[in-house]
Amino acid sequence: MVEIVQVDRKSAVLTPSSLACLSRIPTVNLTAGCTHGCIYCYTRAYSTYPGEGTIMFYRNTFTKLREELSRKRTRPAAVYFSPSSDVFQPVPEVLDMAYDVFQYLLKRGMGIAFLTKGHIPERHMQLLQTHASQVRAQVGLTTLDRELLSTFEPHSPPPEARLAQIGQLVASGIMTQVRLDPILPGLTDDAATLKCLCSALKGAGVSQIAASTLFLRAGVVYSLKQHIRDAALLKPLLAQFKAGGRIPIHAEKSTVFALPTEVRRSIYARLREIAQAYGLSVRVCACKNPDLATESCSIAGEWAGNPTKPRQQNLFNEAERE
Ligand code: SF4
Repeated sequence: MVEIVQVDRKSAVLTPSSLACLSRIPTVNLTAGCTHGCIYCYTRAYSTYPGEGTIMFYRNTFTKLREELSRKRTRPAAVYFSPSSDVFQPVPEVLDMAYDVFQYLLKRGMGIAFLTKGHIPERHMQLLQTHASQVRAQVGLTTLDRELLSTFEPHSPPPEARLAQIGQLVASGIMTQVRLDPILPGLTDDAATLKCLCSALKGAGVSQIAASTLFLRAGVVYSLKQHIRDAALLKPLLAQFKAGGRIPIHAEKSTVFALPTEVRRSIYARLREIAQAYGLSVRVCACKNPDLATESCSIAGEWAGNPTKPRQQNLFNEAERE
């Protein structure tokens, strides 16, 4: 049972992100907290995290969004949903708000980019399909192992439902990328798992995937310990991080516990090789892997007339020099 606390947002709705990959367009969260309850979710470490089983629903989002846009001389090319929550949480208030906001933006020629692990309801899907050229979708899926997925993403749809949804998005002509994030070392990074997933994604019509491995913060470690009672699962997972250190994440100017560089390099190389065999291209998130990657993971898609900002160019140029 989820507790939904209705609150009025005082700060701006359209928010710039500190993630370089998201720096080109504003972002919107409809809630603080997320009912999908992924046990590795980095927002668990945020001061705004409302606690397990609770979401803060920003009920004045649509009103404030319209006010903010009416004051802008230039409208954004697109808006990203959502950096710290899922826009398709199975909560009527959230879904109604998402529909109204999407419809408003799309009808005024703006684009919608979203990342979801949730179920897109039929009426939302129809709206997105009607404006397919204005939509960039990312769907999170890291394994086809139902049991494992339900441990780490307890309130998200099972893999076959997400695959069907991915197929529907692709068939509608919506640019759709699948996000393998977080790849769990020792659990979802082996060749058999990646082959199985890449084969299914190819079958669903996907051509591009984005990837990043698991990173840890204190709040995430706490959550993993709270939710994974099977020591045979938890201990080897956490042990993989012992030889790693902290690395700076370009977002939030903070550091996280990372797998050793060579371990991540080898995981991404394995993924690339397998994905290529299925005709899938792979983008590794440079915001999260500044020591390895040279590219944007394209989390918000590409938008015409919205050039890369200097900060993002710096990020990727720095990485390229290494
Ligand atoms: S769907 Fe995304 S925002 Fe929601 S709990 Fe999972 S990782 Fe966090």
